[in-house]
Amino acid sequence: MDAKELREHLRAEALSLGFDVFGVAPIDADVQADYFKKWIADGMHGEMEWMGKDTERRTEVTRVLPEARSIIVVGLNYYQPQPNPNYQIAKYALGQDYHNIITKKLRKLCTVMRSLGGAQKPYVDTGPVLEKPLAVSAGLGWQGKSTIVLQPEFGTWLFLGIIITTLELESSSPAINRCGSCTKCITACPTSAIIAPYKLDARKCLAYLTIEHKGPIPVEYRKPLGNRIFGCDDCLDVCPWNKWAKETKENKFKARPQPILKETLSWSEEDFLNQFKGTPVKRLGLLRWWRNALTVMGNTGTPGDLEAIGRLVNHADPMVSEHACWARDQILSRN
Ligand code: SF4
Ligand code: SF4
Repeated sequence: MDAKELREHLRAEALSLGFDVFGVAPIDADVQADYFKKWIADGMHGEMEWMGKDTERRTEVTRVLPEARSIIVVGLNYYQPQPNPNYQIAKYALGQDYHNIITKKLRKLCTVMRSLGGAQKPYVDTGPVLEKPLAVSAGLGWQGKSTIVLQPEFGTWLFLGIIITTLELESSSPAINRCGSCTKCITACPTSAIIAPYKLDARKCLAYLTIEHKGPIPVEYRKPLGNRIFGCDDCLDVCPWNKWAKETKENKFKARPQPILKETLSWSEEDFLNQFKGTPVKRLGLLRWWRNALTVMGNTGTPGDLEAIGRLVNHADPMVSEHACWARDQILSRN
């Protein structure tokens, strides 16, 4: 097979494994290294220290696999409508954690590639690669003003997987940016975290503040947080390219039944794990779940929630007790 036939053979294999989109980036793909290094130097990654480590390796794929010749980028659609009107968990986190699901599929594709003589390194989200510019270079879509990758058929709702390979594959045509004059994601952001087109200050982003941030939610972000308990989809929900979004065909991503928020305030660690084991929410832990739940209840709760909140007012963890006092005071000030 020549480089083009090999690419098309692997595309068919990837689609048969359940991936929705497939493309190939050249080994010297433009990963916007200068932009990334400046973003890190400006501290916009906040407490996500792993992002700032080893930036050279992250921006040069051949440091990961010196003999690499091509980079495969695949996407898996995870869209589903938001199931809970009372509070929101970002759509990507409603069901089973995507890392294992995508890694298993990538490994199967790597097995096929090994049989064709290639050596491979697969990554899902946590590896030393810049997935988004690689996805653009591989023709999957373009990076929108919200910085998310937009794909014409699936909109913004794609998990990305990467395989760095020694196989020589013909590159796909890079995607063209089709945001045009639209600025919907920028104006929809409740915390003005998209500080300029294509520039996100993670420290202001509710996805960062509710998931990555370790301490109390800064007071100025508590009201804008609204009813978002884990992540935020606002800049994605408003994107016109999501008009054609289709529901995911991966059943493991489908939403689990969600608990009543005030009942979670009397949970044990075990209750928390029973609910969220195997989902992205598990990494929060019970204390930060309470932190977020209390912020949501401060914004949306009623006097009927005060008893449940009161149980955490004297909690031994100062973050939890302070958030409980804040939630109580917010509800009392409204009633
Ligand atoms: S995820 Fe939410 S807070 Fe973050 S940039 Fe998008 S709209 Fe803003
Ligand atoms: S909302 Fe508009 S500007 Fe933002 S990513 Fe979508 S198309 Fe681009």
